[in-house]
Amino acid sequence: MPALVYLAGAGPGDPELLTLKAARLIATADVILHDSLVDARIIALARPSATCIDVGKRCGRRSTSQQDINRLLVECAQAGNIVVRLKGGDPMIFGRATEELQALEAHNIAYEIIPGVTAATAAAAALGVSLTQRKIARTLHFLTGHGAEDGLPVHDWVALTRAGGTLVIYMGRDTISGLAAHLIEAGMPPDMPAAAVENVSLPDEHILLGTIASLPRLLRQRGGNAPTLILLGEALDDENKVELRLRRTMANAPF
Ligand code: SAH
Repeated sequence: MPALVYLAGAGPGDPELLTLKAARLIATADVILHDSLVDARIIALARPSATCIDVGKRCGRRSTSQQDINRLLVECAQAGNIVVRLKGGDPMIFGRATEELQALEAHNIAYEIIPGVTAATAAAAALGVSLTQRKIARTLHFLTGHGAEDGLPVHDWVALTRAGGTLVIYMGRDTISGLAAHLIEAGMPPDMPAAAVENVSLPDEHILLGTIASLPRLLRQRGGNAPTLILLGEALDDENKVELRLRRTMANAPF
């Protein structure tokens, strides 16, 4: 049975970070159901006759409910369309993929998953930091910064702090003060190097550097609500960064 639904990662924003496979599928799809974070230049790869629907999924804004997305996916596939469900970054990282895949399975609809560049690896590239730097960061945790009902998530703060590696926090911009307080209380040194990367890989990418103690203030002063990834750990120490001179020469490649 040919795959009817493709659950594809759109990467962090820069269209050149799309996989060839995702680009090909977008260009052949009849229907594209995409997250709000997916860049307009990526949606523009669709055929003019394709139906492109923004199904939301942006923290803090009203969006199509997960149930409605599931229903739309099933209906579009059952109508005989080639459907691409396009999610920001990688679909299997904080992408609610399981709910959608279960809905497809419940209706016996075949699917294929196409990975994407997740925000964490794009941020590592932007910062010039190896998230798993030898001898400095032996573990890497991807955490949600967002809990039920817009609150703080429940994590084992002590275990995370003890692990001593790099922490990458998705969806943590609004909760950074609480996250920082929990981590410091759990034993993280207040001067632990920290970074926040807004709009990574996009022309308006912006990097804030500080410590776990100072980052909440830096983000408050900066304001706005751009998609932001927060990174913590010794790997972010200035001494552990590589020079970014070479990267800049390629930054403005035309798409
Ligand atoms: N599946 C996505 C993550 C979805 S959760 C991925 O693999 O990247 C949404 C969160 O991802 C945002 O709140 C933000 O923390 C992060 N994010 C996604 N795109 C980003 C970008 N371009 N710049 C910075 N952070 C981003």
